[in-house]
Amino acid sequence: MLKFRNYVRVESEAAFKEAIASIEGPVVLLAGGSDVLVQAREDDRFRDHTALDIFGVEAWHQIVETEKDLVIGAIATHAMIADSPLVNRYAPILAEASLSVGSPQIRNHSTIGGNIANASPAADTLASLSVLEAELVILGEKGERKVALADIFEGPYRTNLSDRDVIVSVVIPKLPESVRYNYTKVGRRKALSISRMTIATLIETDREGVVTKFDMTLGATFPKPMTFPDISAMLVGKKPSSDDIRAVARALSDKIPEIAGIRASTRYKQPVCRRLAERILHELIGDE
Ligand SMILES: Cc1cc2nc3c(=O)[nH]c(=O)nc-3n(C[C@H](O)[C@H](O)[C@H](O)COP(=O)(O)OP(=O)(O)OC[C@H]3O[C@@H](n4cnc5c(N)ncnc54)[C@H](O)[C@@H]3O)c2cc1C
Repeated sequence: MLKFRNYVRVESEAAFKEAIASIEGPVVLLAGGSDVLVQAREDDRFRDHTALDIFGVEAWHQIVETEKDLVIGAIATHAMIADSPLVNRYAPILAEASLSVGSPQIRNHSTIGGNIANASPAADTLASLSVLEAELVILGEKGERKVALADIFEGPYRTNLSDRDVIVSVVIPKLPESVRYNYTKVGRRKALSISRMTIATLIETDREGVVTKFDMTLGATFPKPMTFPDISAMLVGKKPSSDDIRAVARALSDKIPEIAGIRASTRYKQPVCRRLAERILHELIGDE
C-alpha cells in the first residue's frame, strides 16, 4: 500500500508553481518514482506528504545545447540521456553512466534529477557529473538559482533542497572531442547491480603527450560526490610515466579510508581501485 496524504500531477512549470504555492503541508516530488515508490512502500515516511508528480512537465525532459553548455532537463530519463546524440557528443561519460543504471525498464522511467536528489552514495551518475563539473538549476519559492552539484549534498540520502525546490536542469560545460574518458562500474552482478564502486576519468593530452586536463573520482564510495584537485595536479603538465600512474592510483585508493573511514569494504575496495585506476590510465594515455 502506498502511503501519501494526497497526489497531485502537473504538466507545466506554471502549474508546478501554482501547485507548490497552494499545497499545504510537506511535499514529496515524484519524477520516475523508482526510488520514492519503493520508499513509500517500506514505511510511513510520506504519510503526511502530498506526492507532486512532475513527470509530465514536457519542458523539463528536454536536452539542448547552448554555445558553451549542454543543458539536460532534470526529468530526462536515463534512457533518453544514454541515447542522446548531444550527450554522446559533449558528455559521453554521462551517457555511459546513464546506460549502467538498472535495467531497460528502470532507465525508461527514472530520471537524472531523481538520481541526484535521492542522494544515494551508490547513484551511478554522480561520479561522472562530478568530473564534468555539472551545475544544477533549481527552482525554489524565491525563483531560480544555479549551484555546483556538490553543494546540495549533506550526506548519504541528505541534501539541502527544501521540499518546495525542484531541480529543473543539469548544466554541463561541453567537453571538446580531445578529452578522452572512461566510466567503470564495479557491481556484484553485471545486470541490475547496485554499484559497489564507480570510477569516472577524464583526461586530455597535447600532441607531445603532456597532460592538459585530468580528473578522476570514485562513486559509491564516499558519503557524497567529491572531486580531487590534488590528484588532478599529479598529472597536469606532465608526460606521465608508469611511476606517475602508479602514484595516482595509490593516491586515489588512499582517499577511501581517509574520507570514508575503514570499513569492511575497504579491504576489497582499495586494491580494486588501485588496479583499475592504473589500468584505466594506461589505456587512456595509450602507452600499452
Ligand atoms: C530495480 C531498481 C534498480 C535500480 N538500479 C539502479 C542503478 O543501477 N543505479 C542507480 O544509480 N540507481 C538505481 N536505482 C535507483 C533509481 O532508479 C535511480 O536513483 C533513479 O535515477 C531515480 O529517479 P526517479 O525519477 O525514479 O526518482 P524518484 O523516485 O521520482 O525521486 C527520487 C528522489 O528525488 C526527488 N526528486 C525527483 N526529481 C526531482 C527534481 N527534479 N528536483 C528535486 N527533487 C527531485 C524525489 O522527491 C525523491 O526524493 C534502481 C532502482 C530500482 C527500483
